[in-house]
Amino acid sequence: MRIILLSQDIANKIAAGEVVERPASVLKELAENSIDAGAASIQIDVLGGGLEQISVTDDGCGMSPEDAQRAFERHATSKISAAEDLFSIGTLGFRGEALPSIASVARVVLITREQEAAEGTMVTAEGGLVGKPSPVGAPRGTTVTVRDLFFNTPARLKYLRSIASETRRVIDVAGRLALAHPEASVSLSVGGKTVFTTPRGGSLREAIVSVLGIDLAKAMAPIDRSQQGISVRGFIGPAKFAKSARDVQQIFVNGRPVSSKTAWAAIDRAYDRTVPPGKHAPVVLSIEVDPSMVDVNVHPAKSEVRFAADSQVYSAVYNAVSAALRGGAGAAEIQPEALAEAPAAVIADDRFGWAREPWGYPGTANPVRYAGGRDLASAAFDGASQRDSSAPEPAVEAAVGAAVVPVRIIGQLSDTYILAESTNGLVIVDQHVAHERILVDQFRQEYAMGTPSSQLLLAPAVVELSAADAQLIADNLATLSKMGFDVDVFGVNSIVVRGVPTHSEDVAPEDALAAAVEGIVAAPPGSDPVSMADHIAISLACKAAVKAGGRLRPEEMESLLERLFRTSDPYRCPHGRPIVVVIQGDDLARSFGRK
Ligand code: ADP
Ligand code: MG
Repeated sequence: MRIILLSQDIANKIAAGEVVERPASVLKELAENSIDAGAASIQIDVLGGGLEQISVTDDGCGMSPEDAQRAFERHATSKISAAEDLFSIGTLGFRGEALPSIASVARVVLITREQEAAEGTMVTAEGGLVGKPSPVGAPRGTTVTVRDLFFNTPARLKYLRSIASETRRVIDVAGRLALAHPEASVSLSVGGKTVFTTPRGGSLREAIVSVLGIDLAKAMAPIDRSQQGISVRGFIGPAKFAKSARDVQQIFVNGRPVSSKTAWAAIDRAYDRTVPPGKHAPVVLSIEVDPSMVDVNVHPAKSEVRFAADSQVYSAVYNAVSAALRGGAGAAEIQPEALAEAPAAVIADDRFGWAREPWGYPGTANPVRYAGGRDLASAAFDGASQRDSSAPEPAVEAAVGAAVVPVRIIGQLSDTYILAESTNGLVIVDQHVAHERILVDQFRQEYAMGTPSSQLLLAPAVVELSAADAQLIADNLATLSKMGFDVDVFGVNSIVVRGVPTHSEDVAPEDALAAAVEGIVAAPPGSDPVSMADHIAISLACKAAVKAGGRLRPEEMESLLERLFRTSDPYRCPHGRPIVVVIQGDDLARSFGRK
């Protein structure tokens, strides 16, 4: 075996693998360079998900002809010069790896002019070969254009997702940058259309309006608190805007967008009990700490940070957020009560379409056929008789597999569960998941049959979304329309909602759209429209279903159960939770010493 030194080109390609994962990472590096160059205005243009072209133009300090060429050399950086500098980094970049890495896997054109210089410089690089600088007329600042990303590394291309999904990531990165640097004007265009523009010298609130939409911006409350030299500033949103995706939480450490488990944990803890588990309230938090207290060099793309004083950061974030939530400084707009889920309103008449359904439920006059046409009652009976009565048994079991036929409704427990008597014991049905199952089946069926029934809103609603979410809706208009949504993109971040799938009309239009976005995001990358529709159906059903805590009238309970036992799977909700729990009559008898 012989050890050889890797050629510069191979070394750059290996580094590119770490730094340049996808178009969004190219954008991140270019835009960070613009911020480091002191730009007051940054224009980003993206074509074809960023694979075709990404260009970033800034009005920053620019580069001399020599520096313009040197910038493409590995470990060429103007930002640190001594090893000690690594421990107190005040710029976004410092590794000197981005430009050479990008140039090794794409075609790059750099045009730059320093303030005092009479003319500008152009340098082109392609697949790692860097050309000589040539003079060119140019405005002050720098434009870097990256074309045909990964043209020479086809293996990389395979790991990428759809153009739509790469576009979404690009929008996300641009949005984060705009929020991290509200003082700079950041403007993003995708395919020639403006997605957002933040004002120059703007406030964080203004940047939030542009990037996240006016509705969320209005609902967010400012926070500003310092403790042990750690300052935590920004805005926090109410629980009703909580989403399952973590990307609604934007964390900046010293102006750098990062993921920070420490900050996430502190935020979750502060929102404890007001946000359901697995959901995250939207926040935009800027944490300022002494640069020597953070290590930003733990990830090649610098997207993670490590704090020297982790627990101090945790408690600073926790205290800042929870003080605001409890109505402390700056929380005038958000009261703790407002953050809790609003109690479910008394259920409107005909919530379950009861008036449209004939009275009656399975097990009485006409037993419903289930599981290959077998009578439910006898199936349940078989299930019970197969049990080994000598084995220790749980008194309560989720009724999965064992068919159950409720024959008489006993009543409602805690406004959450429907209790019914069945041939072989006590049946307990979770009303929310039961209704969810009914609705999911209905939404799926309508999509599959291609004849969605849509409920027109009395007045069309205009809903403001974040730029990224509006793009998602725009990309999936056809699927949404096949589900019964009547929506259209209108302006940059606005969606007009004219109609929603029938049975979701009690959901506020913005919540119905939020459910659609959540479903689209939950669908695995590259999903076909059917699976996309399926995920949307699941999240919309969850929003539209009667909540736990809602009082039901007897006929509503009847109708709910009757419809539940006609669905594809009355026992498990789409998320896998049980819908029906059975306490077997035998178990009851044993508990009372009757057996
Ligand atoms: P790093 O940002 O880690 O220093 P890069 O490869 O991203 O490394 O950039 C190399 C150098 O090129 C930077 O240190 C900077 O001096 C110069 N440079 C890159 N982009 C710009 C820009 N938009 N404006 C001015 N200088 C830039
Ligand atoms: Mg850089």
